[in-house]
Amino acid sequence: MSKHPGASGLVFNEPVIFEQGKKGRKGCDVPKTPFGEKDIEGVFGKSVFAKSMLREDFTGLVEVSEVEAVRHFTHLSQWNYGVDSNFYPLGSCTMKYNPKVNEAACRLEGFAGIHPLQDESSVQGALQVIYELERLLCEITGMGAASVQPAAGAQGEFAGLLIIRKHLTEKGDPRKKIILPDSAHGTNPASATLCDYESVGLHSGPDGLIDTAELENVMDEQTAAIMLTNPNTLGLFEKNIKEICEIVHKKGGFVYADGANLNALLGKTKFGDMGIDTCHLNLHKTFSTPHGGGGPGSGPVLVTNELEPYLPSPRVYKNEKSGNAYAFKHDDPKSIGALNAWYGNFGIYLRAYAYILSLGAKGLNDVSDAAVLNANYILSKIKGHYHVPYNSSCMHECIVSDKLQNEHHVTTLDIAKGLIDRGFHPPTIYFPLIVKGAMMIEPTETESKETIDAFINAMLDIAQKAESDPESITNAPTIAKVKRLDETTAARKPNIRYKFK
Ligand SMILES: *Cc1c(COP(=O)(O)O)cnc(C)c1O
Repeated sequence: MSKHPGASGLVFNEPVIFEQGKKGRKGCDVPKTPFGEKDIEGVFGKSVFAKSMLREDFTGLVEVSEVEAVRHFTHLSQWNYGVDSNFYPLGSCTMKYNPKVNEAACRLEGFAGIHPLQDESSVQGALQVIYELERLLCEITGMGAASVQPAAGAQGEFAGLLIIRKHLTEKGDPRKKIILPDSAHGTNPASATLCDYESVGLHSGPDGLIDTAELENVMDEQTAAIMLTNPNTLGLFEKNIKEICEIVHKKGGFVYADGANLNALLGKTKFGDMGIDTCHLNLHKTFSTPHGGGGPGSGPVLVTNELEPYLPSPRVYKNEKSGNAYAFKHDDPKSIGALNAWYGNFGIYLRAYAYILSLGAKGLNDVSDAAVLNANYILSKIKGHYHVPYNSSCMHECIVSDKLQNEHHVTTLDIAKGLIDRGFHPPTIYFPLIVKGAMMIEPTETESKETIDAFINAMLDIAQKAESDPESITNAPTIAKVKRLDETTAARKPNIRYKFK
């Protein structure tokens, strides 16, 4: 047997559930009610449902037994690929293993069973978690104040820019532009546009870092902020960050840091110390919440003390006059207002809180040591076999391209499919946009050397086959459940509805 889990053997076929079962087959039998068939009418005297809402025709509804239903959904779940099944090196996404102790914490009945409309006195523990988590995040980032309310990284960015906008508008200097390095995550220009700013591009220098001379040229008194990512999306640390902050501050602008990927910085350096004015974090990435497939997420926004009054409302504070009770404050006069119907995605706060407390300061510091080491280990092993566009050591993720494989007409997409045949989820591909044919590999700190070595071997095998037998890669995947898909048609004409025969 192969030592690595990979993918082979008992992988079940699974037709859509509408093609299973038999007419009249039932999941389970429930005893007849004392009122007979017309139970609802029997109870209420008349039907509680309008006639138009009652279905006359049941054709096409699924009629399966309990075991058929269970197997159907179990098979589908087994087709799902997640961090609990294998290595998931999706760059910029931090698909780290999520310790199960976090899940235990957020399933505690006293947390899982509460309602947002409950009286504050009955949810003191929950308010304390929000209050303390915000302070822990401030400690980790060196920022002055935080709000965990934004429901995702993108909403955290939106909140940060709204804060800058409101502050500048109050000063009578609203400004028009946001500077965006060409390596920025796509959500950054989207947030700038939503806040009614014009995006101004900034080219990265040949070393993959922000070119401070070009920044000096672009920065003016109409620019509200620069949005930068550090480490940037090339996996490189912006070394000139102090100088960048000085250039922007000198002209009255703000520096926004996209902290979605904090895995390389934990316990090493702090945005506050770099001169950052506002930033967001992704609790679902760095602070270990299962993610992918669309949420839920949490993207806390953090600011300097100067910008604290603008944070989203309500905020949780500790009422020193009434025995340190925790309470919501809804009436901060300068606040940008509420971003959510309630207080954000509370289950994720619990996971992040459990994660931070269970690791402690030393543990968080070890996270970045291992995350950076693992990424550099991969980079050093595949360098030469894959083209490395920026030849320096990386932070928590590394970027290679398909330039060498292009000579044999093998592309990044083919390499990604080749990894599927070898039992691995592909890395992020074709991002960042400034690297042609990019592969962005983020191993995270939670993987063993054996797993990482198996991934490296798969990458090296693909590089070798790209030369000796390129078709075996361009035809991949060959052993996966579905073969090469027509991605254009899938995107343009998605077939998402089952047609009853
Ligand atoms: C993931 C990510 C975001 C967006 O976060 P969402 O929670 O998906 O909205 C923003 N910036 C960077 C650098 C990211 O990696």
